[in-house]
Amino acid sequence: MRIVFSEDHREHFPQGEFYGGIMKTPNERPQRMEFILREFRKRKMTDIVKPGPLDMKALRRVHDKGYLAFLEGVWDEWLAAGNRGDVYPSVIPNRSLQQRLPRWVDGKIGYYAHSIETAITAGTWEAACASASVALTAQKIVAGGARAAFALCRPPGHHAHDDLYGGYCFLNNAAIAAQAFRDQGAARVAILDVDFHHGNGTQDIFYDRDDVFFVSLHGAPEDAYPHFLGYKDEKGAGKGEGFTVNYPMPPGTRFDLWSEALTSGLRRIRRFKPDVLVVSLGVDAYKDDPVGFFKLTSDDFTRCGEMIGKLRLPTLLVMEGGYAIEAIGVNTANALEGFEDA
Ligand SMILES: [Zn+2]
Repeated sequence: MRIVFSEDHREHFPQGEFYGGIMKTPNERPQRMEFILREFRKRKMTDIVKPGPLDMKALRRVHDKGYLAFLEGVWDEWLAAGNRGDVYPSVIPNRSLQQRLPRWVDGKIGYYAHSIETAITAGTWEAACASASVALTAQKIVAGGARAAFALCRPPGHHAHDDLYGGYCFLNNAAIAAQAFRDQGAARVAILDVDFHHGNGTQDIFYDRDDVFFVSLHGAPEDAYPHFLGYKDEKGAGKGEGFTVNYPMPPGTRFDLWSEALTSGLRRIRRFKPDVLVVSLGVDAYKDDPVGFFKLTSDDFTRCGEMIGKLRLPTLLVMEGGYAIEAIGVNTANALEGFEDA
């Protein structure tokens, strides 16, 4: 399987992450990619190419114009306002508050953020663009006739809405690629999100559409981030009703229950008869992940890959989360090898 990867992900490296009342080393850090690439080399998975230039039009098909301009310019605006550290929101327009875009930078940051663990740094825009171009280059490989390709994206994307960042995500790589498939002639696209966390951004982007089918397996929102989306009764709206399927699962979930949900989700996808499948491949459902509470083993990721591979669909796999850093390479490579051996 061809793998697309860009070293430019390193441009995004926040100084810290506010977690558990302290500023700690971010879970989502550049070393994640090093561990994955090391495992790929060990297994001779060396068909790795760089992305082509980024097609900004493809970004605008999914993301709000003002939001993109904000992401591109916020670092300079933040510095010009006299700040020195990384960018964090201090106020977010929840519930009874006005949903108007303020003029001052702190207001703009809150307007475009949905959670505060995610810092923006000097190189965040460049890294997010490189990540999106990784996804779009891999998308082209699949659109060109390959059975599958893997977009080794960082930063991840599935928590990014059309005009909101958070959950370590800025541009929704999977959604951008899914839309690109549609724009290049695919009539129906399915997105399967197996990351431990609900793919809130992806769900929201396609919620009222019947041409993109979204399935997510994740920690129940009562207990797991992003907490405010991912309930079972969210099924799509308008003509999109019935085209979103959520499988929230409780703490301690092992592969027996998890794979039942996957089997059910794959059956729903098969019935939708998509031309192509996009997989949001996070490996934080792993038993020792610091931000998840599922109990999948490394071997379970092989089986997960096999089950997805048995659909026999042209498939774009897109990297999302995974923060148990010593196991992230093995778990990712297992999923890809399982897929190929199916
Ligand atoms: Zn995740």
